This record gives sequence, C-alpha cells and structure tokens, in this order.
Amino acid sequence: MGLRQAEAILLGVHDLQEADRIVEFLTREQGKRRGVARGARRRFSRFAGELQPLARARVTWFEKEGRELVRISSVELVRAPRELMGDLEGLLLSTYLGETLSTFAQEGEPAEALFRLTDAVLAALAAGADVRTVVRYFESWVLRLAGVFPPPLDCPLCGRELGASASLAASGEALLCRDCARTQPGAVAVSAAALEFWRRIGREGPAAVAARPPGEATLEEVGEVSGRVRRHFLGHELRSLEVLRRTLGSAGAGSPA
Ligand SMILES: [Zn+2]
Repeated sequence: MGLRQAEAILLGVHDLQEADRIVEFLTREQGKRRGVARGARRRFSRFAGELQPLARARVTWFEKEGRELVRISSVELVRAPRELMGDLEGLLLSTYLGETLSTFAQEGEPAEALFRLTDAVLAALAAGADVRTVVRYFESWVLRLAGVFPPPLDCPLCGRELGASASLAASGEALLCRDCARTQPGAVAVSAAALEFWRRIGREGPAAVAARPPGEATLEEVGEVSGRVRRHFLGHELRSLEVLRRTLGSAGAGSPA
C-alpha cells in the first residue's frame, strides 16, 4: 500500500473525462496495473509525450487498499519504442502488441516471464529484426505463457509424439495427431513448418528466430492459427487487430494473415 515505483512497460492509454487519462502498464512484480494520470490530456501536462504504448518507463503510483485503479504520480521515459513510432503501421502495431499484453496479463500477479518476453521482443525490433517474424513470435509466446496455446509436442488424445504433422482441434485447445484428428470434426491441418516454428520459439529468442525466419507462407499460417486459438479463447477478436487490418489490409509487415 502507499507509494510504489517500478520499471514498467506501458500497454495502453485511454482518455478519461476531459483532462485525464487511464494508463495501463506491465510490471514484473505486480503484473498489469491501471492508473489515472491526472491532467494527462492537457497540452502542457508533465506526462506529455511519455505515454506511448510499449515505451519502457519508470512509473510512480499511489495505491489504496481495495482499489484496483491506482493514481499515477509520474511516468519517466526510459526507452521509447522508436522503431515503432515512425509511421502509422508502427503505431498501429504497438497498439496491437500493447492490447495483446493487456488482455493476457493478470492484474496484480507477478509477470516476470511476460515482462522478459516483451523486453526481448522490443530489443529485437530495436535491433532491426524482421518485424513480421518477431510479431508472430510474440503472439504465440503470449498465448503459451497464458496457458492457452497447445504444446506442439505430443497428441493429448493418444499420447504419441506429433512429429511432422498435426491438426488444431476445432476448440483451438489442442494440437492432435492426424489419426486422432480424423475423429474430431472441424480439426484443421497444421503444416510441419508451422510446428517447427513453435518448437523453435521454445528454444530460441526472437532475434535468433528472425535471423533465420521461416517462409512467408509459414508465417502467414502461424499468424492464422494463433489468431484462431486466441479467438476461441477470448470469444472475440482484439479491437486493435481489426483496426490494423482495416487500415493496412494484409500488406503491412507486421499485420497478421
Ligand atoms: Zn493422437
């Protein structure tokens, strides 16, 4: 209780009343937090320019027992996501990545792994790694950390190793071997290359995967399948992804299939 400070990754900023903003941020120790930044919409606010999704910042806030919404007293920018700030596509993409994190991060629960993943992904982007591969890496890992993405290893029905082929169950909750998939209506075949991608991200960081990226078709499939898993779980599509698609079509580097 009381005054807290932590290094955080900003997830999103929403307007509140005429002068204030709600800022969502991810911390290692307390997961997702939401707070009011008073006066943040004013032109000469002390928060001006600091509230960019995916920025790394030192956030100081005040919390009261029993209240989820904290009061933010300062946001000091540590690192801006420059590689995502230059154009509309970057801006839409950072909003999408921020909304993904915001959707899957637990409020008030430690989020060390999610924080490290995001940090590694932002470092890879800052170093010029292929945006599309890094985004696919991020989407799959966020779902995996949330316990939503099925492990690409054994068939949960028969226990056999998946090997080079599998199908995604219609529920989006399991990767099945092709034999078991035949008994499951609505299962969708998944390619060997996509399976290999999900195995690789278990052993390699985003920069390494992006340095030896899978082909275009595989990236498209990976994005399609993880989108399907996520929609099944949430029951809807992420809003920022719809905006991204409407604005850029599927031509954008980071835009999912
Ligand atoms: Zn099986």
